[in-house]
Amino acid sequence: MLTDLKSLNLTELQEIVPGFKGREVFRFIHRHLKEKISDLTCISLSEREQLAEKYFISNLDIQKTSNEKEAGKVAFKLSDGNLVETVSLKDKENRVTLCVSSQVGCPVQCLFCATGKMGFKRNLTVSEILSQVYHFAKGEKISNIVFMGMGEPFLNYENVLAAARILNHPLGQNIAARKITISTVGIISGIKKLAETPEQFRLAWSLIAPNDGARGELIPSKYNEPIDKIVAALREYQRTTRRRVTLEYVVLKDKNDSEKDAAQLVKIAKQLDSHVNLIPYNPVKGSFYMEGNKGALFSYLKKAGVNVTIRQSRGRSISAACGQLAMHHE
Ligand code: SAH
Ligand code: SF4
Repeated sequence: MLTDLKSLNLTELQEIVPGFKGREVFRFIHRHLKEKISDLTCISLSEREQLAEKYFISNLDIQKTSNEKEAGKVAFKLSDGNLVETVSLKDKENRVTLCVSSQVGCPVQCLFCATGKMGFKRNLTVSEILSQVYHFAKGEKISNIVFMGMGEPFLNYENVLAAARILNHPLGQNIAARKITISTVGIISGIKKLAETPEQFRLAWSLIAPNDGARGELIPSKYNEPIDKIVAALREYQRTTRRRVTLEYVVLKDKNDSEKDAAQLVKIAKQLDSHVNLIPYNPVKGSFYMEGNKGALFSYLKKAGVNVTIRQSRGRSISAACGQLAMHHE
């Protein structure tokens, strides 16, 4: 089996191609986005031939692309035939945010999420995560990366962090760590590990419902941990990192949008240095939820002095909005 050069960090790469040449190979792959060993013209032809005996550079095939005004979506075909989707979102200033996938499907299986409904196939490799970004980076400058595509990033912690570090590397795309956000349903082991990483990667927590009863109904999963334990882990994370966290809250009619819910949400938000992001529910096939009263929640939170915004829903017409990503075969 050949080893994938794109999955290696600089240190690992320099164990294969030592010294300055290793740096150049890293730069050719991650900055100049070269996709074949034969294109690594920073080393000699015979060095390339030797390298190709044991190594390769993996890439993703494009299965389908869809575009609307502010959003683009690409379905990539992986080498084993599985599909993952990546979304590019443009804001008013034309800054590009990429919504990147970390797994094929998701083991958490939240009832309101299309990815959860397709089950779990496997983790993505470092290279498969990077290739999603590099596809878009060839055409335009990428400002922000959010791990809010398919999958739960903290259930693929090592590969997600390795990819984030390579995206942040000065010899690669050089995307600032504070412009890379990891969104988690609340996997405590991941929050603890991220607290100990020196980079300023940002964290978002999908709170979804403000008490364990309602949360358990929407996220009926062994990965759903108690809210107070997650809050404690986030407080510890903030004590060491001083970074504000985002609380993501998909507003669902009669599930989490009452005044009582709002009061509980305020309490949780105030235990943290936080910013609440209310997300309009995006319809998912086979799911019977309805969009909740985000306006009322917004005013309640605002009045209570909580930092709150409503996420602009982009990409709905091409099933590219939050929670709509799945293996679309149509
Ligand atoms: N697994 C991670 C990251 C991917 S989901 C997580 O759950 O945080 C990214 C965001 O989309 C989450 O905040 C999730 O709650 C939200 N989401 C899921 N399904 C949705 C839907 N149908 N409509 C709107 N947002 C949804
Ligand atoms: Fe997985 Fe996140 Fe979807 Fe839940 S919302 S099923 S954790 S991708």
